[in-house]
Amino acid sequence: MNKEWSEMNKKIQALLGKEATYKDGIELLIKLRNDLFEQITQIVNGYPLQAFYQMPYANADGYHSKTLSYSIWHIFRIEDIVAHTLIAGDEQILMAGDYRKKIGSPIITTGNELKGQEIAEFSKKLDIRVLYEYAKEVMLSTNSLLTNLKYSQMKAKYSDADKKRLIESGCVSPDENARWLIDYWCGKDICGLIKMPFSRHWIMHVEAMLRIKNKLCKIARKGVDPIAYCGFSCNHCFLSEWCGSCRTEYNVCSFATQYEDKRCPNAVCCMEKNIDGCYECSELEDCTKGFYTPDNDGAASAKAQAMFIRKCGKKAFLEVHDKLHERFDFAKTQEILGQDMNEGLKILEREYNK
Ligand code: SF4
Ligand code: SF4
Repeated sequence: MNKEWSEMNKKIQALLGKEATYKDGIELLIKLRNDLFEQITQIVNGYPLQAFYQMPYANADGYHSKTLSYSIWHIFRIEDIVAHTLIAGDEQILMAGDYRKKIGSPIITTGNELKGQEIAEFSKKLDIRVLYEYAKEVMLSTNSLLTNLKYSQMKAKYSDADKKRLIESGCVSPDENARWLIDYWCGKDICGLIKMPFSRHWIMHVEAMLRIKNKLCKIARKGVDPIAYCGFSCNHCFLSEWCGSCRTEYNVCSFATQYEDKRCPNAVCCMEKNIDGCYECSELEDCTKGFYTPDNDGAASAKAQAMFIRKCGKKAFLEVHDKLHERFDFAKTQEILGQDMNEGLKILEREYNK
């Protein structure tokens, strides 16, 4: 489990356990939920539609054997059911916002009953944008519920009437892989529910989503030229777990994501000029487009790398990167190549000729 999230979660549980620190616990819980939701936001904003119904770990045991869409649906259906039908006793966001139809989901359940390819087929039907809006509304609504809960309510238990209400809602499938949820939820007090559906459950599924998207990026980059249009090496990029290369649809380069169409201006320009990369362009040294914008602190080092490729070729470039990464510990190339493209080029040449 992610160390930071796991530590935060432990701290939350300890704070929630005492009346004097209870409010701090709720505050920290909301922070954890916001951090986790930010991961979901980045995934939804960054990846192509087909990423959301792929199952790169289809045969594995564990949450990562699902899809990205299913994971979002499942986390927030469970939360919606528990927060509204069980705890607050009011209408779920799915129904109140008429989301089922808008999302395109054939089910209103948690999805626990779905198996193997059924998960992929189900995921294909979901409108990821609307699903994200639904997830956000559920998250905000639960945050508000959590803020209004009092310490004295933490030990509140659930009865057979609550179980009946959950069964009658039709939101939990009678399938053996799903129906246990009702006993599980109703066997807990509110504090116990906060510990699972509202926090730990999120951590486990968000971690699985990160694993899925890392794998999808890796698959996308397979066989693709590892040199980015601007002159970076995708093989050595600190973003390579997030980004599947600007030469694929899994382009989540932090620079490209700043643009509405999610396309890096350097990549677009190279395509328009029908060239392999900026290293083939006569305007390289004076270019101020995209990543080469003068106020971008990585501009000079990107240019230095493109200039090196132009001079020595891609093979030499990848070799020099291997050497640099062996000798130095760095994430961004400007940490080594500095802020002057000519000096950066000299550093690369020196390293190559060593
Ligand atoms: S951010 Fe750029 S260099 Fe890094 S993997 Fe993506 S396209 Fe490649
Ligand atoms: S003009 Fe700039 S962005 Fe376009 S190909 Fe040339 S160097 Fe790259």
